[in-house]
Amino acid sequence: MVELESIGQGGRVRNYVGGDWRDASGDESTSVNPATGETLATVPFSSAGDVDEAVRAGSEAFDAWSARPVEERIQPLFRLKSLLEDHQDDLAALLVRDHGKTLAEARGELRRGIENVEVACGIPSMMQSGTLLNAAPGIDESAVRKPLGVFAAITPFNFPGMIPLWFLPYAVATGNSFVLKPSEQNPLVAQRLFELVDEAGFPDGVLQLVNGGPDTVNALLDHEGVEGISFVGSTPVAKLVYERAAKHGKRVQAQGGAKNHIVVTGTADLEFAAEKTVSSAFACGGERCLANDVALVEESVYDEFADLVVEEAASQVVGYGLEEETDIGALISPEHEQTVRNYVQTGVEEGAKLLLDGRDVTVEGHEGGNFLGPTVFGDVTEDMVISREEIFGPVLGLAPVADLDEALGRMNRSRFGNAASLFTGSGADARKFRHEGEIGNLGVNVGTSAPMAFFHFGGWKDSFFGDLHAQGEDMIHFYTDKAIYIERWPEA
Ligand code: NAD
Repeated sequence: MVELESIGQGGRVRNYVGGDWRDASGDESTSVNPATGETLATVPFSSAGDVDEAVRAGSEAFDAWSARPVEERIQPLFRLKSLLEDHQDDLAALLVRDHGKTLAEARGELRRGIENVEVACGIPSMMQSGTLLNAAPGIDESAVRKPLGVFAAITPFNFPGMIPLWFLPYAVATGNSFVLKPSEQNPLVAQRLFELVDEAGFPDGVLQLVNGGPDTVNALLDHEGVEGISFVGSTPVAKLVYERAAKHGKRVQAQGGAKNHIVVTGTADLEFAAEKTVSSAFACGGERCLANDVALVEESVYDEFADLVVEEAASQVVGYGLEEETDIGALISPEHEQTVRNYVQTGVEEGAKLLLDGRDVTVEGHEGGNFLGPTVFGDVTEDMVISREEIFGPVLGLAPVADLDEALGRMNRSRFGNAASLFTGSGADARKFRHEGEIGNLGVNVGTSAPMAFFHFGGWKDSFFGDLHAQGEDMIHFYTDKAIYIERWPEA
């Protein structure tokens, strides 16, 4: 069991509602360290009644919070940023224990989360809208942005320290109240985050934490007091959430799963491209929506590139994320590990060439962990399941292509549109890739195209449902509605 101040007797995670820690009243599951099998905490699920209490607390806090001067609203956010930085090391260690990734990855993730708090601290400038003097004879006209009420975010297991911060800071900086429902698979970082929220001094009711699973999500989607929903998770659930929230007249942004490509042309620096391809595919055990896990490589350099990738992948150390030498940590659960292993078996049966087989990996001292070594397939054709579906594990496919046109065609036919990267020495190829790639996050000579917090997080097709994305300016638009003031003051 972990020791957190907010966790009550018996190591049970708790909800944070109206400034108090409370027990949820529904069914229970457990949070387990994926590398050791150790039970870290019991996770009681929130019922519709628990969700109702949280939303009511948010509604009650909204009027006073939204009326506060914006400069006052951002002060607790500045404190939260400092607290997150002061506690970055203990948060990172907790994240590793609850998720399975490495310490370096956990630190990097938290840094990307903190960036969003920093951006939201700039809300006094970002929330401004336009004014036009003399829009008509004697009339001045202004556009303003107003917060709406209570918003909720439902987040996945793979970035438990970063993804809640894609939403929380912007929601409250713009003057709304907020409810977070983190993944039930690893809710401990959110638990600790809310201890820091408590310390940062937000007024009671501005921020709520509710733990739970699908029923808790549905209670949020159906609750008439919730103005809008942010969701990040798999595509089937993103679709369900999008439809159900929209049916209840809510604003909704729903980010889904992915299948991302790397394209390597004959003019690329192959060693650099191979190193970045391996880090993109295998970092965080491949459990990243931005992981590029299919590399489309020009035939003239395919064999050389494949050799470099296999050599680099084989050098990755699989192990417990808390141990410094580990490059690839544990997968989130035994069930997910089995799903990924099934994909590897499917690849073998489909006739892809197994260039590196990670299935026999063992991690000494952690035999109970959910480990799978880096696995590389060659000659992966477009029709194969492993080329089309999200695997979400340390599995990379390579495929030869005649040229950039063939690669773009294959990439653009994917039903997903989250991310892609091109490795090339040609500016003309880079331009073509940017113009013709039907993908939300496009990188050139960049392994993983993850936007900084001051840009929106792209995502097209089945990787995103909605119009306003996470992070940056889009969040200001999502969390506010526009009004127009038209004024005339005739002279006496
Ligand atoms: P998931 O869809 O299983 O769960 C996400 C959230 O939805 C959790 O909080 C969970 O409790 C809830 N949920 C699960 N099933 C539900 C249901 N039937 N009804 C209502 N709510 C439900 O996703 P996951 O396994 O936690 O995360 C991995 C997925 O998230 C991958 O597909 C990955 O690509 C995606 N992801 C996408 C992005 C992005 O920006 N597009 C970022 C991170 C992760």
